[in-house]
Amino acid sequence: MKVFINPGHAPNGVPDPGAVSDVTGLRECDVVLSVGKLVEHYLNAVGIETAVLQSDELYEVCSEANNLDADLFISIHCNSVESPYAEGTETWYCAGSSDGKHLAECIQSQIVDHLGTVDRGVKMATPGKNGLYVLTNTDMPAVLVELAFISNEDDEKLLRFNQDEFARAIARGVTDYM
Ligand SMILES: [Zn+2]
Repeated sequence: MKVFINPGHAPNGVPDPGAVSDVTGLRECDVVLSVGKLVEHYLNAVGIETAVLQSDELYEVCSEANNLDADLFISIHCNSVESPYAEGTETWYCAGSSDGKHLAECIQSQIVDHLGTVDRGVKMATPGKNGLYVLTNTDMPAVLVELAFISNEDDEKLLRFNQDEFARAIARGVTDYM
């Protein structure tokens, strides 16, 4: 079993930090890299192989995952919207992938149960409509998890102080799936 972990956006935020908190300056690229490395740690600890790649070049991310013949693909992001009230966790999978949907459900419920975030549910991305590049262009069951909202005060605190819990929840989601 090999899991490909893709922290979203670009290393060190160059050229793209992803979402940034107006209030604290917390950057999505830093949160998701830290969580991704911890997910790797916890999966390796139970004998699951991993690869981690954070890159602005999504083509590179997908072809690397496909070339490595990874069994699962997990992209990690933080959500953000204008309204400071939106909060919670959501996990996306690609239309037509029942394994992707199952993996999304396992990760979603682990995060919601253990972090206490609002459950926004698992969501289906349909290529050509609301497709997500990394879900459409990877060959294995793939999910994109939006951990929480960096634009919400309570969620932002979780993203800042509870990265280890997010990582443990994702790793447990993977073992639940297996
Ligand atoms: Zn993102």
